[in-house]
Amino acid sequence: MKDKILNDGKLMNPAFSALGVTIFEVMSQLARETGAINLGQGFPDDPGPQDVRAKAADAVLNGYNQYPSMMGLPETRAAIGAHYKRFQGIDLDSNAEIMVTSGATEAITGALLALIEPGDEVVLFQPMYDSYLPIVKLAGGVPRFVTLKPPHWTFTKADLEAAFSPRTRVVVFNNPLNPTGVVFGREQLEILARACVQHDVVAVCDEVWEHVVFDGRAHVSLMAMPGMRERCVKIGSAGKIFSLTGWKVGFSCAAPDLMRVLAKSHQFLTFTTPPNLQVAVAYGLGKEQCYFETMRADLQRSRDRLANGLRGLGFSVLPGQGTYFLNIDVADLAPEGDAAFCKRLVADHGVAAIPVSAFYAENPVTNVVRLCFAKYDATLDEALRRLAGLPGLRRS
Ligand code: GLN
Repeated sequence: MKDKILNDGKLMNPAFSALGVTIFEVMSQLARETGAINLGQGFPDDPGPQDVRAKAADAVLNGYNQYPSMMGLPETRAAIGAHYKRFQGIDLDSNAEIMVTSGATEAITGALLALIEPGDEVVLFQPMYDSYLPIVKLAGGVPRFVTLKPPHWTFTKADLEAAFSPRTRVVVFNNPLNPTGVVFGREQLEILARACVQHDVVAVCDEVWEHVVFDGRAHVSLMAMPGMRERCVKIGSAGKIFSLTGWKVGFSCAAPDLMRVLAKSHQFLTFTTPPNLQVAVAYGLGKEQCYFETMRADLQRSRDRLANGLRGLGFSVLPGQGTYFLNIDVADLAPEGDAAFCKRLVADHGVAAIPVSAFYAENPVTNVVRLCFAKYDATLDEALRRLAGLPGLRRS
């Protein structure tokens, strides 16, 4: 009887029962099983700054380990505000406009649940991070897609006009964009800001890669664009700033009216985030400029090491401007498509990667594969050695 109920799935919400396991878990599990080098799921080899980890350890042993306040420790909220003022020139009232969450995924989920009513249209840019769409659907939202294509993954005013309608309530915007590594600049932000103002839409801005931008770029938040200060939820992640992805400490920033509603959904999703980690994140956000510059420079070197190695082997490497990821065009190597290619890569060549088609809901791009370069040189070099054995490569 129990099995029948489970098999029919009648008692379950198809928003989840019809979902597959996230591609990150699938590929990491395959990497564990086969002993492959894992360039799939995005997490660094680097253990993260020693002083930030020491702060957390000290806070566990000597600090406060009971529920912190629901919105986050006052010192952490103040540190987030000061950090965004210092790096992005954005003024935030840490008492009314900042909330600490258990990772950016919670912040995004919470924002979507708080903002979408059944039937509302939600504009999503695909390829999109794989948590967005299931939550939009769970909330009863109707997705409208803007489809980005390689190699530039860019969008025009006409693309937005085709996706926005009088029923659009929310747009989800990820910049820098995972999985493509694109950093959208002012021109594109302005086009998007105009569409949001014109259609009276709230933008949920996943900016977790804001510090991971290369070649002298500086992150510009959609929140800093004209008319957007009151209609943006700006989401960040300590995991990406300090190479501590397992910590799951995120932050949500929004004008007071929006924040009051975001707080209502946070209170019943996770309620609070571990206070010891919050203490360490508050400390880390205040670190000197050189920490952030070195982190960026180290990752840029790793990007270049992998890109040059791949090019030398005959891979077609797409431009990467930010994030931990580099993409390769496998059209010539993989007539079977990116998903089957990634299975072959992990099984026969010992390297795990992510097929970019997993980030599309419709009309997927099927010839692009994402590789994480946030790894030690030795890891990247061994991956390149293994990839050299791939049939069909034409060395330049
Ligand atoms: N953000 C990570 C990535 O893009 C994945 C995080 C996760 O596995 N949920 O690889």
